[in-house]
Amino acid sequence: METKIVKLECGDGILSPEDKAALKEAGEVLKKGGLVAFPTETVYGLGGDAFNKASSQKIYAAKGRPSDNPLIVHICRFEDIYQIASWVPGEAERIARAFWPGPLTMILPKSDLVPRETTGGLDTVAVRMPSHPAARELIACAGGFVAAPSANTSGKPSPAAAQYVVEDMLGKIDMIVDGGQVGIGLESTIIDLTVSPPQILRPGYVTREMLEKVLGTVEEDAVLLSGDSKKPPRAPGMKYRHYAPRGELTIVQGPQEEVVRYINSRAAKEKAEGEKVGVIATKEALSLYRADVVKSVGSRRDEEEIARHLYNILREFDREAVTKIYSEGFSSRGFGQAIMNRLLKAAGYRVVELKEGTENI
Ligand code: AMP
Ligand code: MG
Repeated sequence: METKIVKLECGDGILSPEDKAALKEAGEVLKKGGLVAFPTETVYGLGGDAFNKASSQKIYAAKGRPSDNPLIVHICRFEDIYQIASWVPGEAERIARAFWPGPLTMILPKSDLVPRETTGGLDTVAVRMPSHPAARELIACAGGFVAAPSANTSGKPSPAAAQYVVEDMLGKIDMIVDGGQVGIGLESTIIDLTVSPPQILRPGYVTREMLEKVLGTVEEDAVLLSGDSKKPPRAPGMKYRHYAPRGELTIVQGPQEEVVRYINSRAAKEKAEGEKVGVIATKEALSLYRADVVKSVGSRRDEEEIARHLYNILREFDREAVTKIYSEGFSSRGFGQAIMNRLLKAAGYRVVELKEGTENI
């Protein structure tokens, strides 16, 4: 299949008349049952008509995604939620007022209009209203309901820039809308409103603290930060090994000096054994590492910068055929929880904890 790529002039700013024309064309593709990848403020989405079973099946095929892993339905007007959910509690209206349009997905009981092909066989539906102007325009042009998971091949990091969508989806979908690098870089927060108290199934930019200010008590799926729970996660996508780079990733936590010493000594040893070693470093410690490839993920003081760069870096390490990757660890408070959640999953929960004065290796 030939994939048409259109580059937006707006980035994530105001749409030009040419941008609007391109998004109208993309909307037509969706209405006819085709697939279009498009930028959102979180990561790129791989869109299809949410009410069309065949479109949802095509999304699973293009991603190589297991069909029990549900899609998120994207809308551009709040009132459209009443068409896809059979019940909309007051909590949904309150958090929509606070965080929509934006990086928050709600789980609600699905209406009969939504096919099970879109919800991975579940009776519930995930719904989000994105804030990215191109995403909103596209959803409106497509008739209002676009099912979209992240636009990556299943098991790879989600694409935070169009070049990675091209890498994974060229020849497999009808169109790619290139809006450059996205703003947030990690997938939306998912909150389940079908249980009481509401439960966070995936951490994201909208944190538990932010949600609790609006809703009161909010719980977290116990599986989020530890891989050792026997219980399966309640968001089906979280059970798959996700966000995985090809190289073996290890997170090293502890006092900065010890972390640098440990990583450098592992890197020297593994290099001698023929491995290509990469390091995910904060800007502050970048110059201290000795390895084949050392990349800055951003300043330790700027979590938004770290989130924006994390997936790009994992993909760059793949491209450079790095076989062992070491990453500094980050605080898991606030938005940091989403960063650590994705990093831990990418590492298959491989973590080394160092203490002050540890005798390394
Ligand atoms: P992606 O945007 O690629 O991360 O895919 C959407 C993710 O949303 C899935 O992997 C699921 O984990 C989650 N999700 C979607 N619908 C539901 C649902 N009805 N219940 C729980 N989680 C859901
Ligand atoms: Mg995904």
